[in-house]
Amino acid sequence: MAQEREQRRQDYRKTHDNRGGSTKRGYGAAWQRLRAAKLRQNPLCERCGAPATVVHHKDHNQFNDFWDNLEAVCRACHEEHHGRKRKDGDGRKEQLWKKDNPR
Ligand SMILES: [Zn+2]
Ligand SMILES: [Zn+2]
Repeated sequence: MAQEREQRRQDYRKTHDNRGGSTKRGYGAAWQRLRAAKLRQNPLCERCGAPATVVHHKDHNQFNDFWDNLEAVCRACHEEHHGRKRKDGDGRKEQLWKKDNPR
């Protein structure tokens, strides 16, 4: 059954990787509203304090839309969380942004 699990992981990555185009696929209007509400309440990354642009599902289940399961994070922290390789420049840009807009 290991194969099936691997397949599910890949599907998960595919949907989760879908930057920018999230309205088109998989995410409905309800999620868009919830996501916007979360970012309004937590405009800064809960991990590093940079501006949050991503609402992450703590349990990695994107259908589990309980408020407690959501975490506002910046892209760098989000990518790091999901184990993607982080390019040096990316994180630094967020930091610069933070300096210019202290809050
Ligand atoms: Zn962050
Ligand atoms: Zn995530």
